Amino acid sequence: MVLNTKYQRENWIDENAGASDMTSQVKAWTSLWHTKVPSKQKFFAWRLAQHSVPTADVLHHRNMSQSPLCALCGAPDSWRHALLDCTMSRCI
Ligand SMILES: [Zn+2]
Repeated sequence: MVLNTKYQRENWIDENAGASDMTSQVKAWTSLWHTKVPSKQKFFAWRLAQHSVPTADVLHHRNMSQSPLCALCGAPDSWRHALLDCTMSRCI
């Protein structure tokens, strides 16, 4: 669902999205909110899709950090880096 939302956002940015995409997006979010998982996980998925997880690149973009690099390994930070690609997160 997160990837689907990402693709829909990219299509919307490219001005290729129509009203049916918005309807499907609303249905997707509605299904997420009705999923029987802890609310912390729903909220995290929503924040991830909204690009509001406070990774270094987001904080730097909002002038809340001096560097967009990962504090642990020094690579360019992003949600993908923080969750999947960082050598330190891979240890966990
Ligand atoms: Zn890292």
